Amino acid sequence: MSTDTSTATMTGAFLPGDGTVDLRATPRPRPGHGQVVLRTRASGICGSDIHYIYNGHIGEGGARYDNVVAGHEPAGEVVEVGPGCKRLKPGDRVAVYHISGCGQCDECARGYFIGCTSEARAAYGWQRDGGHAPYLLAEENTCVPLPEPLTYVDGAFIACGIGTVYEALTRITLSGADRLLVTGLGPVGAAAALVARAFGVRTVYGAEVVPERMEWARSLGLFDEVLDSSAEPLERIGELTDGTGVEAAVDCSGHPAARSLALKALRVRGRLALVGEGGQMTLDVSDDVLHKQIVISGSWVTSVQGMTRLAELLARQELHPERLVSDRFPLAEADHAYKAAAGRAAGKVCLVFED
Ligand SMILES: [Zn+2]
Ligand SMILES: [Zn+2]
Repeated sequence: MSTDTSTATMTGAFLPGDGTVDLRATPRPRPGHGQVVLRTRASGICGSDIHYIYNGHIGEGGARYDNVVAGHEPAGEVVEVGPGCKRLKPGDRVAVYHISGCGQCDECARGYFIGCTSEARAAYGWQRDGGHAPYLLAEENTCVPLPEPLTYVDGAFIACGIGTVYEALTRITLSGADRLLVTGLGPVGAAAALVARAFGVRTVYGAEVVPERMEWARSLGLFDEVLDSSAEPLERIGELTDGTGVEAAVDCSGHPAARSLALKALRVRGRLALVGEGGQMTLDVSDDVLHKQIVISGSWVTSVQGMTRLAELLARQELHPERLVSDRFPLAEADHAYKAAAGRAAGKVCLVFED
């Protein structure tokens, strides 16, 4: 593998879709108008990479994989700036919003490139080259400043994992007056606890069914109690809250039973945020929602502006998403990294690039 800036090629990690990682030569990018080249310093692996690409190319549309360099959670240092860039300069540290858009539509104007429906929309690592290579071509308007003391690994986790729960918890207006239940304690669920702490929430409960994840969540020190979802967790929530229920809940699992737990654990006028993808949710509209005056909010990742505010918040409070990383690997060991991420026990898995 070469990271020599004078060479025209570099090594990137591609995902053939058969549970392996293919490391092969690919051109080193040069910036066009409005684009920058980053020297990649960290590149996260996401559950969606495993689900839609690594184990088989099952995605369509915006989730399609076009045999590009993988990795939609990059952070790095700007090394080259194309014509027309107005903000960034070489040496700037940035995290990257994981999708580029047309830049013109209403969703793009609001910074939600995720919601862009034009043909120009492309996710890094899915339809355009991503962060699993020493250099990344990025649109300047998808780059977010990474303030000190945040690390590049912190930055890699801000767009997709942490940004997603930041947005969801913003929608249900969390404050220090709330007790929060998080269902589904993978990296995103753990991130929900971290962001809730940043919002001043003093009591955070978690619920999970996989023993390794329960153990990992307990080890983080972010939860007041981690409940076993298979052992009558609703009764336990009642005991913990003197029978009232929690003020707020967020489901990060996408599992019907966990969503139901999150909803039923709410007290009157509680708020529920849903970020776990897929599947169904059944609810008794009158008993579970209307009569308890519940607000249910859906949320889909975040905006560039949301990412920027989140980075500032984390930096101010010196909260490091990096603590949710359980495994880190160099690019040359990307195969091991994906095997770890596809396994049940891992927290967040991140590729890191040394000097
Ligand atoms: Zn992701
Ligand atoms: Zn657009």
